[in-house]
Amino acid sequence: MNLLSRREMLSLAAAPVVPGATRNRPNILYIMADDHASHAISAYGSRINRTPNLDRIAQGGARLDNCFCTNSICTPSRAAILTGQYSHNNGVYTLSDRLDPNHDNVAKRLQGAGYQTAIIGKWHLVTDPSGFDYWNILPGQGDYYNPVFIDRGEKKKHQGYCTDLITDFSLDWLRKRDPGKPFFLMCHHKAPHRPWLPGPKYAHLFDGQTIPEPDNLFDHYESRPASVAAVKMRVGENSTKTDLKTDIPSGLTGDALRKWAYQYYIKDYLRCVQSVDDGVGRLLDYLDAEHLTRDTVVIYTSDQGFFLGDHGWYDKRLMYEESLRMPFLIRYPGMIRPGTLNKDMVLNIDFAPLFLEYARAAKPAAMQGRGFRANLEGRTPRDWRRAMYYRYWMHNDESHGVPASYGLRTHRYKLIYVYGKPLGMRGANPPATEPAWELYDLERDPREMRNLYDDPAYARMVKELKEELDRLQREVGDTPA
Ligand code: CA
Repeated sequence: MNLLSRREMLSLAAAPVVPGATRNRPNILYIMADDHASHAISAYGSRINRTPNLDRIAQGGARLDNCFCTNSICTPSRAAILTGQYSHNNGVYTLSDRLDPNHDNVAKRLQGAGYQTAIIGKWHLVTDPSGFDYWNILPGQGDYYNPVFIDRGEKKKHQGYCTDLITDFSLDWLRKRDPGKPFFLMCHHKAPHRPWLPGPKYAHLFDGQTIPEPDNLFDHYESRPASVAAVKMRVGENSTKTDLKTDIPSGLTGDALRKWAYQYYIKDYLRCVQSVDDGVGRLLDYLDAEHLTRDTVVIYTSDQGFFLGDHGWYDKRLMYEESLRMPFLIRYPGMIRPGTLNKDMVLNIDFAPLFLEYARAAKPAAMQGRGFRANLEGRTPRDWRRAMYYRYWMHNDESHGVPASYGLRTHRYKLIYVYGKPLGMRGANPPATEPAWELYDLERDPREMRNLYDDPAYARMVKELKEELDRLQREVGDTPA
């Protein structure tokens, strides 16, 4: 089945790809979900759901397979995206940190370059947005049903489902905008964030079906007890009634509980995703109808990845693949070849520099990321990064019990240093988290089930990776624990 509309196909066919070509500055429609993992997108080969509208972006443009966040949690990743900086430079380390409105950000730069700027939906950076001509945001996490929005400072409660309302408000703003200027719209969905409350349209999607389980749903963390024993993100064992919307049957424990709870968890998560997919479809249809498709860069991503029962978990935070990886789909007809697959290592701090490249605006020196427009056009710079630096700081969050860590990921290996004890776990016996190292060979063990750090065969590799981690940590301006 061809997932492109007839108008999209005509538009793409009429737009020959000319690498490195320049033309009018494009509109930028940046759509971001919250906690949407790439393995729940069919364009990424999902085994568990179909996302026909997200797939339209991938088919008409590019899919990035190695897009990573630098700190896998909502607020810090959002700050990194807006500022192009790591947490230690933008000051947003955890969920409770505020983004200083005086801090430079990409919206301010685009505004200065003549763009109309707007953010609609989840903001979650404590302070009011700055750099946006229009903003209409959820307070904090916001609600799924009949949510309150803050429209430029004014609170108003709306009837309806949050995902649909965010799409409605985005379309309203697009219709009212000044067509004489390019636009930058950040459409930020709340879904599919916990507690995974579906909209009425999809409340019964997957009823009577069994969703396939990940192959490591019953992980018991052998060889990684130091870092993961304390983690309180286990499907079933750490699921609440709000998560599951039903009582756990008495007597259900261990793997049987995990297996039972997974179905409740994953179905609601995917039901939430389906409404996001619908919303993306409506925005793409609007671009088609208004003949804006050719002049609009469309991006779909999420603030980080998510464990979909992988390792038996929900949530994110850890540096493992499912949490670290962000989906990133981008379409720009005539500039990005339809069906492009890109494996370059791209980070969330690179998004702001990419927007500035498209706007032909200068990148401020304080932005640490690097634009990747050339990569998307098949011209990866020879000196493009081959390793990335990650750091998670929120070990003061007792509810999830995830220790602080930092690490290095190359195309093949991942080295993680776990050092911060989760609050409330200190002195526990077990599972106290003592500083520990982990090494994974992603080529041989893509699911990260075997920590090779103590394997003598990898001693030399460990030494090299530690040197590279030290170098990269210094280069980005961070300091060891
Ligand atoms: Ca998130």
